[in-house]
Amino acid sequence: MKVVYADNNATTKVAPEVVEAMLPYFTEYYGNPSSMHSFGGQVAKKIDVARQQVAELVGADPAEVVFSSCGTESDNAAIWGILRANPRKRHIVTTRVEHPAVYNLGKYLVQCGYHVTELGVDSNGMLNLDELSDAIREDTAIVSIMYANNETGVIFPIEEIGQIVKGKGSILHTDAVQAVGKIPLNLSKSTIDLLTLSGHKLHAPKGVGALFVRKGITFAPFIIGGHQEKNRRGGTENVPSIIGLGRACELARNYINEESTKMKQLRDRLEEEILKKAPDARLNGHKMQRLPNTTNLSFEFVEGEAILLLLNEKGICASSGSACTSGSLEPSHVLRAMGVPFTAVHGSVRLSLSRYNTIEDVHYIIEQLPPIIRRLREISPYGSREMKMKEQAARVVAGM
Ligand code: PLP
Repeated sequence: MKVVYADNNATTKVAPEVVEAMLPYFTEYYGNPSSMHSFGGQVAKKIDVARQQVAELVGADPAEVVFSSCGTESDNAAIWGILRANPRKRHIVTTRVEHPAVYNLGKYLVQCGYHVTELGVDSNGMLNLDELSDAIREDTAIVSIMYANNETGVIFPIEEIGQIVKGKGSILHTDAVQAVGKIPLNLSKSTIDLLTLSGHKLHAPKGVGALFVRKGITFAPFIIGGHQEKNRRGGTENVPSIIGLGRACELARNYINEESTKMKQLRDRLEEEILKKAPDARLNGHKMQRLPNTTNLSFEFVEGEAILLLLNEKGICASSGSACTSGSLEPSHVLRAMGVPFTAVHGSVRLSLSRYNTIEDVHYIIEQLPPIIRRLREISPYGSREMKMKEQAARVVAGM
């Protein structure tokens, strides 16, 4: 069956160039980079090349890049690393729309006796920066605010946020898992102190990530063990994946401008046509301040899971902000924080593109999705009642 993969914020295809770069590190160069012998030493040199490639994509110094096992680990390492290094500071500022890697850590920190301020967002998913400024206290160890939202693609004004955080003498961590590789970043001219990225969102394999830690930031390791990563992260390195991440960052850096322009064109076309063709559809999140590849749409009075199942039958992979896809019983905390009505949260669908999507993919989704929504509306007692009322109201307004 034809497969149209439009779930790239969940994970991406590993680029063939990345696979090719990784293979020799399973078969030929399997030495331990910490070994004294040159068989391991040559691998250590290749890790340094990967570190350079990652650093170049985000405008960092290679010495500021610490490899990890994933985005979740990097987020945990950033927050715990700063809390442990500053034990007298027991307050954290974050937002209500973070990925669970930060959001649920915040909940856990409260149980551990820390104070956590969660900033709300408006209906576009944007923060109020005055609220941020008011929230930062003398004992605020760290402010952790994501770069771009995984569900809506909304991009926060991270440099403005950084100015406020610096002005108040605190430390800024940003979860940039969804931003890195999709939009250009330059940490050499930035107020960000720590930044998380994850391999599998940018065409590297799953199970590898990195944390940028700015020089001069006092940071305690999260994973305590050997001396790897200059004592900042214990554990023998996942060499093939690190090599793959380096190559993926090199590819992203070379093509980021043309790829983001292409993705935006495809995404805009997709969004426009679906909003036009599917009744009672709405866009969730700021229309402009957004990643180029993401659209989050709500179809009122239908269930997101039902839409996904029917899309799946047609070979279309997407995801939903309603219960089951997130693996919990609760609908999306992001859409709820934005005040999206319950009926719309339940009928939300996220479509996220990558460099591998084509205009044919977009046409196929445009062809398949609106009839699915209409079909579901017809069989939904709630939906059809609402639709009939709306149709009646429209007829009254039109004087029919
Ligand atoms: N942060 C954001 C914004 C994400 O979208 C994700 C993954 O979806 C993560 C963190 C977690 O990354 P990983 O899957 O590498 O642990």
